[in-house]
Amino acid sequence: MGDCKKMEEIVNTDTLIHYARQYISEEDIESVSEVLRSDFLTQGPAVLAFEQKLAEVAGSNFAMAVSNATAALHISCLALGVTKGDLVWTSAITFVASANCALYCGADVDFVDISRESYNICADALEAKLIESKRNNRLPKVLIAVHMCGQSPDMKRIKLLSIEYGFGIIEDASHSIGAFYNGAPVGSCVYSDITVFSFHPVKIITTGEGGCVLTNSDKLANKIIRLRSHGITSDKDIFSDQPASEIWNYQQVDLGFNYRITDIQAALGLSQLKKLNAFVGKRREIAAHYDANLSRLPVQLPKEMAGTVSSYHLYPILIDDIDCHNQRAVFGMLREKGVAPNLHYIPVYLQPFYANRGFKRGYCPNAEWYFERTVSIPLHYSLTREQQDYVIMCLDDIFV
Ligand SMILES: *Cc1c(COP(=O)(O)O)cnc(C)c1O
Repeated sequence: MGDCKKMEEIVNTDTLIHYARQYISEEDIESVSEVLRSDFLTQGPAVLAFEQKLAEVAGSNFAMAVSNATAALHISCLALGVTKGDLVWTSAITFVASANCALYCGADVDFVDISRESYNICADALEAKLIESKRNNRLPKVLIAVHMCGQSPDMKRIKLLSIEYGFGIIEDASHSIGAFYNGAPVGSCVYSDITVFSFHPVKIITTGEGGCVLTNSDKLANKIIRLRSHGITSDKDIFSDQPASEIWNYQQVDLGFNYRITDIQAALGLSQLKKLNAFVGKRREIAAHYDANLSRLPVQLPKEMAGTVSSYHLYPILIDDIDCHNQRAVFGMLREKGVAPNLHYIPVYLQPFYANRGFKRGYCPNAEWYFERTVSIPLHYSLTREQQDYVIMCLDDIFV
């Protein structure tokens, strides 16, 4: 159909059109430079300002910025009391960090299958698994509900199940700062104990490396603040009976970590947050243009579920007939045309590390169905309409 050769002149052939890319403005660079010229490179005012703004944007009582979302997930599990002998559940389709955090705490991890519509955890599958696990006396301590591609899972139903079965909820919203669920911003923790964001460069806003923990509970917030910084506190109410020495003003009361973010990163984050609406708006515009132009192809497009406004971190297309259009071949053809797609994700339990722990192929059929068909096509703030139309034309060539 389309003439890709002609379009190749538009696309700089040296640079692939990537599925994701950060956008850094001169203003971002200026705010980082300001910190570099200031007194505090870490533990300074930029971190506090970033956290204040994050809590405001997310609509949560507390926001604690940390070194990355993996660290955020780790100390969130610890704050909810996850320990040896406990079980943490997460979605079969997610980045490995959503599962690894449970193992860091000495707990075990198990996976819940996804919905073929939203690609998020399937609430029916979750309920069925809970019923069975209750019978076996092996209920999870915490569920990590992943916001796949920028869209919230069915948190209302997950929350009801958590009340019935008594587990904590962490929302892994690494993909979805700037998204909404039932009219409230993602991060407001209406249906969860804790929400986590990631600021890796492929995500919606970036700090290079970075993440944050959001909660409405002051108890959890205080615990997170301690775990982020060596388990140390200067809050005299938390000090042990032992009188604090006159010459030092802190005590280590937990085994914590150095999971702090720097002021350099926080300044970038603060500046990026100013563009959050523009970032998400542009992503939604790009998604709408794909929606309108790819619907004629034999692929399943992302669906926005009732009550959700997605931030469109990813735009996966699912190949309808994989015998006719082999997934690997589609990747190869796009690559040849200068488009760099990606795959999000291989079911975590099929990773060699998890397979070695006893997980078998066939464990979550919908996750495997999804994995065999999915291709994440380019979607990011600096993707031009010309580049996007080129991607559409390439897909036309491949599928029609
Ligand atoms: C990116 C990502 C993470 C990890 O984020 P980092 O900030 O790189 O540690 C965790 N979970 C999901 C779903 C992600 O996409």
